[in-house]
Formats: sequence, structure tokens, C-alpha cells
Amino acid sequence: MQKGAIRVQTENIFPIIKKFLYSDHEIFIRELVSNAVDATQKLKTLASVGEFKGELGTPEITVKLDKENKTLTISDMGVGMTAEEVDKYINQVAFSGAEEFLNKYKGQTDGANIIGHFGLGFYSSFMVSNQVEIFTKSHKAEAPAVRWECDGSPEYVLEETTKESRGTDIVLHINEESEEFLDEHRIQTMLEKFCKFLPVPVKFADKQLNNTSPAWTKKPSDLTPEDYQNFYKELYPYAEAPLFWIHLNVDYPFNLTGILYFPKISKSFEVQKDKISLYSNQVFVTDEVKDIVPEFLMLLHGVIDSPDIPLNVSRSYLQGDPNVKKISSYITKKVADKLDEIFRNDRKSFEEKWESIGLFAKYGMMTDDKFSEKGNKFLIMEDITEPGKFYTLEEYKQETTALQTNKDGKLVVLYATNAVQQDSYIQAAKNKGYKIVKLDTIVDAAFINNMEPRWDSMQFTRVDADIADNLVDKDEKSESVLSTDQETKLKELFEHIPQQHVKVELKGLSADAQPVIVTRPEFMRRMKDMAAVGGSGMSWYANMPDEINMTINANHPIYLQILDENDNDKQQKQVRNLADLALLSQNLLTGADLTAFVNRSVELMSAEKKN
Ligand code: ADP
Ligand code: MG
Repeated sequence: MQKGAIRVQTENIFPIIKKFLYSDHEIFIRELVSNAVDATQKLKTLASVGEFKGELGTPEITVKLDKENKTLTISDMGVGMTAEEVDKYINQVAFSGAEEFLNKYKGQTDGANIIGHFGLGFYSSFMVSNQVEIFTKSHKAEAPAVRWECDGSPEYVLEETTKESRGTDIVLHINEESEEFLDEHRIQTMLEKFCKFLPVPVKFADKQLNNTSPAWTKKPSDLTPEDYQNFYKELYPYAEAPLFWIHLNVDYPFNLTGILYFPKISKSFEVQKDKISLYSNQVFVTDEVKDIVPEFLMLLHGVIDSPDIPLNVSRSYLQGDPNVKKISSYITKKVADKLDEIFRNDRKSFEEKWESIGLFAKYGMMTDDKFSEKGNKFLIMEDITEPGKFYTLEEYKQETTALQTNKDGKLVVLYATNAVQQDSYIQAAKNKGYKIVKLDTIVDAAFINNMEPRWDSMQFTRVDADIADNLVDKDEKSESVLSTDQETKLKELFEHIPQQHVKVELKGLSADAQPVIVTRPEFMRRMKDMAAVGGSGMSWYANMPDEINMTINANHPIYLQILDENDNDKQQKQVRNLADLALLSQNLLTGADLTAFVNRSVELMSAEKKN
């Protein structure tokens, strides 16, 4: 029997470790089980190169809970350790690792930075134990089994013992504050979280908990669409089927495998952003992948596995890590390529999925220049008057250049956000031969704003931003049938209307256009839309009054009729009613103004009867 003191400078490191890692005690299970996996893999490797000639059997890892004795035991059938190895790897290496860890983070008050990002190793067991025992028998036939014991002080015991089978048992004597870990349920949940896809069978209460060869570790050519779908179900049992997926597989300049799924997204934007899990050699690390996956791809679901992502560093370091940056741009490129591929090979299905894809695509194009370049080719817009008809930017250009180029040479992309509410404008624009696309998702206002400066030959205008004649500013004059006197009189009548923020303009439109057309200028309306979805720095716009333009169609026959009246009061009321009707059709007439309109209408109608 050997007694000794672990060579660490700190008098007693464990209280400090405990304090540091207070909120994340459960990772001890990840560390111990992955050590067991490592030991098993090592033995398999030795066997495959002929260095281990004994019976390999079917090695598995078992976790056993003994409530009575308050112990939790993790057993493996791996390489095991000789006494010398325990001395070297446990007494010296593991504990000098602890020392290094402490030196590194000494003086750091923010423990949260470290938690979950540091491979704590074997000594993490002391976070939950007041005593830890190792029973181990090396695969080397002649080596006797050994028992190691330590109570968290720098003193340990190392002695020969009897152990029948090859491998290692780690026995944790759970301390009083950690009795939560003496609960089957708790252990089960933790194992499911950390060990779900470990490559060696992990058993708890006689049940295997893990899938040892998850889909992402296989070759894409060996997988059917069903396999991908089934794996998705395994990850998210309650989720709707994914739209499609990307199998990631790189080995240079970094190692990365994984599968990313595109979920179905509904308009309500109930997007869950914590659905990608990061693994390192099949060991679960975290589902906070914020610094590894570009923000816009956080909408994706799935798994990324990379042993090259440094886990033992703080988040701020991770952001600056060149490997992490490469990984992030690799994923972005893969996603863009996949979208491009589906678009080119199966445009129909691409269009069907556009409602979901569009959100990623637009979000991505706004935030990533490279993605944006590719996106310009597959971004599509649906014709609001012909559901199912989609244009790419190029196609839209082709079809509209002749009619929708304005006097500055810019192509005016006309869009609508609500087919029902904007129907009269859509019809008016359509009658002029214009194509109106539907841009009705939550990101569209921001998207347009973002892209306009990049696509400098295009200008987006909502279909109700102006009267149809003015949507594409062509510098053409339209003639009015009224005399100058009549026009002056009509203007006077309209200017009497006590409306705030309303600009009145007389135009000679076609006789069958509405007599009064209310429009809201593009810029202010767009800003208000963005403010409504909470764009930062936009609240100023939210409080701005609505700006309204009122165009009087001087060519509408009703004006000749009104101008013929000699009762000025009646003329006033008729004109007012026309204006109110236009506002009403845009949902802009409310409160007292609406009441006055109703009363005035009734009055005008009864006056008619008397005549
Ligand atoms: P790491 O796993 O990063 O090497 P650990 O602190 O987790 O660090 O483990 C230290 C060393 O102890 C391991 O490298 C290994 O040599 C040895 N070891 C730990 N657990 C086992 C085990 N179950 N079987 C065999 N060796 C083990
Ligand atoms: Mg380890």
C-alpha cells in the first residue's frame, strides 16, 4: 500500500473547485462517462493493432445507484490502469490539471464563463462526493488490480486489491449537499442529456440509454431520407417533420460533422433558437451554439460535432477563435449551397417551402454578404394576384422593365403586404399592367430597407404608397377635364376639410378611377412598420403621426355634378364624404370622424329625398 500527498500547491483545491462550478455540478457524469468511453475505445484500438490479445467481449458502460450506501458507480470494461498509471494519470496529471485550471481562472469572479466550457476531467467527481474510490484492473494480464481512494484532501491511498474483471469502477460517495444525485430520475435525465449518442453502450437500471451510431456519424451515401427523418424524430420527438436537411462533413482544415435540419416555420415566428446541439466526439457539450453558428442559422435544428471547437475557454475567446470563425463560414456556405441546389433542381418544391425558407434566406442575406450574393439568385417573390407564381429578381426584372422603370432608370418593385386590405390599389396597379409581389412576412420591411442600397437599380414601393399613376414616377402630365376655375373651386372645397397630416393634390386620372384616393408615402409607412416589430432605434417612428396623401381625381364625373350645385354647404358635405369614404376604405377613419361621417351620410341621403 502506498500513501502519499497529491502534489498541488494549493492546500486544498476542492472547496475552490466546488465554489467555482457551483451551478453546473451535473457535468461530473459527462466527464466520468466519457473517460469510460475513452478507456473502452483505447482498448478497441489496442485490440485492432494486435497489442491486446485477450477477449474483448462487448464492452459496455454501466451506471449504478446504491441509495443505501449513497454511492454512484460508473463502470467500464476498458483498458483499466496499473498502479503506476493511477499514480501518473490520476495523482499527477489529473491534479496538476486542476492546479492549472485554478491558476488560469484565479481572480475571475465570473464563474459562469467557465462553467460548461472546461473539460473538468476526473476531479469534477469531487464536486459531488466527499470520497472517491477507483477500482481498476489493467488489460495487461500480469498487472494486479488496484484501489485508489481520496477524500478531497491532497492525501490519497493507493493499494492492491482484488477485482475479477478488466476495467475500471469509479465509486462516488455522494456528499450531503449533492443528495439530489441519489435519485434515479435525476441520473436518468442527466445520462440522456450527455450520453444519448455516445459510441459505447451506456446502461442504467439494466436499460441501454444511448444510440451508439447516430446518423451524423454515418456516411451520407449510407442514409436514406427516412433515416434522416427518423433521426430528427429522435432529437425532437414532438416536432413536425423537417423540410430538408444538410449533412455536414469536413475534415480539413478542421473536423466537423453534423446534420442541420430546416424546420417548418409558421408566420407567427415562434422560432426556437436553442435547437442546435454541439457535441464533441459524440459527447454532448452544449446547446448554446451562439458563437459557433451564425445568428441567422440559429433557426435551424440539429447537431454539430467537432472535436476542434475549443471547449475549455470562455465565450468571448470562442468568438475570436479562428477555427470557430471558419466553422461558422463553412456552415453558412453549406446552407447557401443547399438552398441553391434545391432551387435549381426542384424549383417547385423550393417554392412550396418558400414560406419557411424565405425567412432564413432573407435573414441571412441581411446579415451575411457572402450568403447575400448567393441569395440574389434564389430569392423568389410571389405574385400577389397569382398565387403560386414566383419570380426571381432576374425574372421580375425581365417581366417589368418595360413598364416599371421610372424616370431615374430605376426598376420599381411593387409589393403588397395584405391582399385584402390593399385590394383596390392592387387592382389599380394591375390594370396598368404592373406586377405586384407579396412581401408580407415579419422580416420584409427590414429586408427591403437593407437590400435597396445593395440592389441600387431597384426601388421598392408598396402598392398603396401612391395612386397607381404615380407609383412609377415617369414624369408624364395627365390632363384634367375641369377648367382652371373649376379646379380652383374644387381645391377650395377639399382644403376646407379639417384633417391633420393630410396633403391634398388634384390630378387628372382616368374617369373610372376612384374620386378620392388615399395613400401613405412609402418611407414613413415603412419606418412605422419596422418600428412596430421592434426595430432598435425605431421607436421614434412609431410615435409619428400617420402621413396621408389625398389625391383628387379631377376627371371623375361626380365633380362636375358637385360643382353644378349652388348650395355651398351641401357641396362641402359631399366633398367631405368622398374624402371620408377614401379614408374608410383604408381603415383610417375612426372615432368622432367616423360618427360624423355616418351622420353626414344620413343627412345627405334625406336631403336627396326632399329634392
Ligand atoms: P482526460 O480525460 O482529459 O485525459 P481526466 O482528468 O478525465 O482527463 O482523466 C485523466 C486520466 O485518467 C485519463 O487521461 C486516463 O489516463 C485516466 N483515466 C480516467 N478515467 C479512466 C478510466 N475509466 N479508465 C482508464 N483510465 C482512466
Ligand atoms: Mg476525461
